[in-house]
Amino acid sequence: CGIFAYMNYRVPRTRKEIFETLIKGLQRLEYRGYDSAGVAIDGNNSEVKERHIQLVKKRGNVKALDEELYKQDSMDLKMEFDTHFGIAHTRWATHGVPNAVNSHPQRSDKDNEFVVIHNGIITNYKDLRKFLESKGYEFESETDTETIAKLIKYVFDNQETEDVTFSTLVERVIQQLEGAFALVFKSIHYPGEAVATRRGSPLLIGVRSKYKLSTEQVPILYRTRNIENVKNICKTRVKRLDSSTCLHAVGNKAVEFFFASDASAIIEHTNRVIFLEDDDIAAVADGKLSIHRIKRLASDDPSRAIQTLQ
Ligand code: GLU
Repeated sequence: CGIFAYMNYRVPRTRKEIFETLIKGLQRLEYRGYDSAGVAIDGNNSEVKERHIQLVKKRGNVKALDEELYKQDSMDLKMEFDTHFGIAHTRWATHGVPNAVNSHPQRSDKDNEFVVIHNGIITNYKDLRKFLESKGYEFESETDTETIAKLIKYVFDNQETEDVTFSTLVERVIQQLEGAFALVFKSIHYPGEAVATRRGSPLLIGVRSKYKLSTEQVPILYRTRNIENVKNICKTRVKRLDSSTCLHAVGNKAVEFFFASDASAIIEHTNRVIFLEDDDIAAVADGKLSIHRIKRLASDDPSRAIQTLQ
């Protein structure tokens, strides 16, 4: 029902500040109604040197989630992150009762390799779930959303090369999805990166930086740049439509990105926003936001679409 995510790139923030930003974002979306809430942030475990993703989910209101966050004694609130990506969600259950397991973020596996928040409904989730279960993926929730988390892990596990990008994985995932969605993904395999996409459900991205913002075009075959988005954010004139749009703070400087299903959660942070359109994939890596639009598979038969994954 409500999506809010926050990335600080080269803007040092304590975990407490990150919590506060995420919780405030969710509170701005509360008016839409919901039954449970959750976040995914980077955890810290002194025994495990690498960062891992920590999920905190709660049935009930955002205040209950906020209290739960501060109860997590594994989390050092003063710990500072130079770059961090946190995602948060309020759920209005469509598939599966309201409880902590069914609330979002949903995850790919017990190690939280991929986590996702979702607004909307995946209408072909039963076929996808059957397919993934036949491949040995074990489900823990009753949600349609969990199929997305498992599907991205499946695509990742079966990739042909080591260096596939996060946005390519998401592109392959949404080519399999039917229904309506706004999605934001986070992964331990892509630290400091974010991917968001939508079809039929709203999603926008706010950008804040005290440095000049710049755009560049990244040529990508068969992809379309979203011309209106560039104009909107950079007030520049852009004419050609044959590449992906890339936006960043000049000189790789500090920049923050806010992802939300509703402008009311972003407006207090920045008035520079990009409204994603259907089948846009927005990816942040190294402080650069790039947006491109995918071409859907010709076939809308889910079983045939699944075939192409194997
Ligand atoms: N269909 C998803 C679920 O039931 C998402 C619901 C929502 O938009 O909050 O978990």
